[in-house]
Amino acid sequence: MSTELEQRYRQVLHEVAEAARAAGRDPRSITTIVVTKFHPVSLIRQLLSLGHRDFGESRHQEAGVKAEELAGEDLVWHFIGQLQSNKARAVAQYANVIHSVDRTSLVEKLRTSDRVIDVFLEVNLTEDPGRGGVLPKDLESLTASVLETPTLRLLGLMAVAPLGEEPRRAFERVMSLREGFLTSAPFATQLSLGMSQDFREAVAVGATHLRIGTAITGNRPPQA
Ligand SMILES: *Cc1c(COP(=O)(O)O)cnc(C)c1O
Repeated sequence: MSTELEQRYRQVLHEVAEAARAAGRDPRSITTIVVTKFHPVSLIRQLLSLGHRDFGESRHQEAGVKAEELAGEDLVWHFIGQLQSNKARAVAQYANVIHSVDRTSLVEKLRTSDRVIDVFLEVNLTEDPGRGGVLPKDLESLTASVLETPTLRLLGLMAVAPLGEEPRRAFERVMSLREGFLTSAPFATQLSLGMSQDFREAVAVGATHLRIGTAITGNRPPQA
């Protein structure tokens, strides 16, 4: 029996693969993360039974509980939300990848983690410093601090396209920032870009990690 969830899941994977081929890329070079925030563990279990492994969560309180409930399962947790410094150590206990490293105070907290964590540096594409992400002018010093932190393995850059801007233009801004970034971290070539509304554009510019929620899960239940 194929559920609506399964249909949406397969449809999105199909569209990701088509977008990859259209861009001359190997679909296997792209990791689709299903963002399950606000959804119950039962939804994650359904996706696990379809063979999916990569899941994204954005709030520690919720993610920590889910990680504990699913502790025996073979899955990869991606922490994608704004991360408070005082939660960093706790998130590092279960998250395999943190996509939202955006300031040196956070790097300092993660320095004492007892496991190595893969990280993306989140870039703020808006003019509002209150949004998640490092401002472009501070990217270089943040990169330097991550590179000298043995507990962190730098994968690349992450960004969220701002509302009201063409996603492709926003992603192209990331690509131009990335040129400077790669001179200090040449191996950190991965890119976490693209959500339900703009994953096709993200694949076209070279995203390696897509963070897709509603297009697969359906609408999120109201926040608790
Ligand atoms: C919620 C969220 C997503 C997924 O958003 P959808 O529009 O539901 O695909 C992706 N990235 C981040 C950082 C998020 O918080």
